[in-house]
Amino acid sequence: MSREELKLAGDTPRTLAPGSTIGMLGGGQLGRMMAQAGSAMGYRFVALDPAPDAPCGQVAPQIIAAYNDRDAARQLAQRSDVITYEFENVDAGVAALLAEESYVPQGSALLYTTQHRLREKAAIRAAGVPVAPYRKVGSLAELEGAAAELGLPCVLKTATGGYDGKGQAVIRQAEELEAAFRQLVPDSSAVILPELVLEKFISFQCEISVIAARSASGEVKSFPPAENIHVNNILHLSIVPARVPEEIQQRACRLAETLIDGLNAVGLLAVEMFVTEDGELFVNELAPRPHNSGHYTMDACVTSQFEQHVRAICNLPLGDTSLLTPVVMVNVLGQHLDGAVERFCRADEEANRLGIAPKLHIYGKTESKTGRKMGHINLLCKDTGDGLSWVEQTNLWRN
Ligand code: AMP
Repeated sequence: MSREELKLAGDTPRTLAPGSTIGMLGGGQLGRMMAQAGSAMGYRFVALDPAPDAPCGQVAPQIIAAYNDRDAARQLAQRSDVITYEFENVDAGVAALLAEESYVPQGSALLYTTQHRLREKAAIRAAGVPVAPYRKVGSLAELEGAAAELGLPCVLKTATGGYDGKGQAVIRQAEELEAAFRQLVPDSSAVILPELVLEKFISFQCEISVIAARSASGEVKSFPPAENIHVNNILHLSIVPARVPEEIQQRACRLAETLIDGLNAVGLLAVEMFVTEDGELFVNELAPRPHNSGHYTMDACVTSQFEQHVRAICNLPLGDTSLLTPVVMVNVLGQHLDGAVERFCRADEEANRLGIAPKLHIYGKTESKTGRKMGHINLLCKDTGDGLSWVEQTNLWRN
């Protein structure tokens, strides 16, 4: 096949049966869990990741090379029938090369959109879905003007590169504007200043997320919303069913499905939202990949988010997303790892007393650090209150 033919073929959905090879850009925990789910279905995997012994490399063959290494990307393309990625910041050149030399049903347009907060917000609004009111900010004067228009409190964020609360500042009073600007733009004499976005602070009742999936031929399904609790800006707990009225849950699912359809995305789209006291929903962020807040699906849903992603990119019918049991997912960070593993190795009387089945998932990372995601536990329970009591009573998550 010529390059032109290959490229054209990439635009039409292809069904890839079990036995096909899925190439993955990135070999972290998301890649590992995708390979685990997909290999159970008979797919083969190969991952590209610079870290020797990456989490995915322990369960699938790995090409050890930098993400922007063109030769390695070409090798990945040659060994794969279909390519996917497990993180958003894919190098644009590599994305183009992979699309040309292999089949990338997800394309690169959505990656481009979600790599930049302003592009992302514009795309969400274009799909008819609400986001917090916002303004683009390029200078201190623009920040002052935007704050006057939106009213305080507000949140100032860098348009690119921020994650887990990094690259953002909450502004409650006009006197804090300049300090917030200097925090995000330490060198205001630089030739190119980072783009910023100022958002109205949403006084939310809770944060929820919905993982939606769309297959290459356009079938759409979403998982039940997770209620997410963050500590130090890192996801700590996902509670499912979310403790919001059924009507809001249904609206959140419809909104995520509208978005994934409107964006013409293929694969998974994680949609993070704020729920206000009046039951309004505002989308905060998107991730075009499996998401930490969807890990509960691994043990609590008929189909896991990882199986669903494989089904979507391989153009299989999407799996049933029904919830089988209430669940609380708790993340195991570096500081929780030893205690969680030690607890898992002996009879857990507290879990037995509460009637909880704790399902431990450890990612196989070689270095454990405070704040680093090392694993998670899905607490299958009769009532999410019991799962929350278990987390409280273990004393493992006090820091
Ligand atoms: P982000 O990096 O955009 O996901 O933001 C990290 C966290 O900051 C969110 O999970 C919220 O808890 C909080 N946050 C971000 N934007 C806003 C906002 N506009 N209003 C209120 N809280 C926000």
